[in-house]
Amino acid sequence: MTIGRLHSIETFGAVDGPGIRTIFFLQGCPARCLYCHNPDTWKPSGGREITVNEVLDTAKRSVPYYGKEGGVTFSGGEPMMQGEFVLEAMRLLKKNNIKTVIDTSATYIDEYTEDIIDEAQMLLLDIKHSDPEEFTKMCGCSQDKLLEMIELINDCGTPVWVRQVIVPGINDTEENIKALAEFINKSLDNVYKVELLGYHTMALNKYEKLGMKYKLDGVKAMDKKKLAKLQKTLNEYLEQ
Ligand code: SF4
Repeated sequence: MTIGRLHSIETFGAVDGPGIRTIFFLQGCPARCLYCHNPDTWKPSGGREITVNEVLDTAKRSVPYYGKEGGVTFSGGEPMMQGEFVLEAMRLLKKNNIKTVIDTSATYIDEYTEDIIDEAQMLLLDIKHSDPEEFTKMCGCSQDKLLEMIELINDCGTPVWVRQVIVPGINDTEENIKALAEFINKSLDNVYKVELLGYHTMALNKYEKLGMKYKLDGVKAMDKKKLAKLQKTLNEYLEQ
């Protein structure tokens, strides 16, 4: 049995995929996002061991709450980094009629990625930036993997819930929103939803405790009204 490495589990999650979900945050991430809230997931060797049977047993406890849409979400970190484990867990969950969403930053691809995308109920696709240079500034990785992953997603026909974190002074412009809409309209075939998430500063304490430098120190949380306006603008551009 393949062993995974787990950061934490959240039960009754309502924002990381459709319906009520059990979320498994896995260790390991190749990205280094400026605003990362979970720097303690970066190290692949961190966290604790978990088996696919433990995933199933934990997920089963909330089955009465999942309804038609809910289920399990694998997040991170970057869950694609534990492809063999994630795929085995997804297949076991599927046998038990539990659906799986993958929350990915599209910064890592290997021989398991396509099968994972094919098995998934939906992908939560975090598009760090539509511009290749800004993408790299935002997360320290090349955008190439995102483009490669989008091809796999379109080939599999898996629905996608796109998300982008909006950071004041970095990507909170109408120009960025327009470019994001154009990128989505041009590249993704099966879009379920597109959501902007407001940057917040709740991770600051975590960085202090870990003795790590927080790169966005001094940047204020995203204004909710401005975020709502940008979301409205985005929806209009997406319809064009
Ligand atoms: S992809 Fe997610 S876990 Fe990885 S650095 Fe970025 S925000 Fe953090």
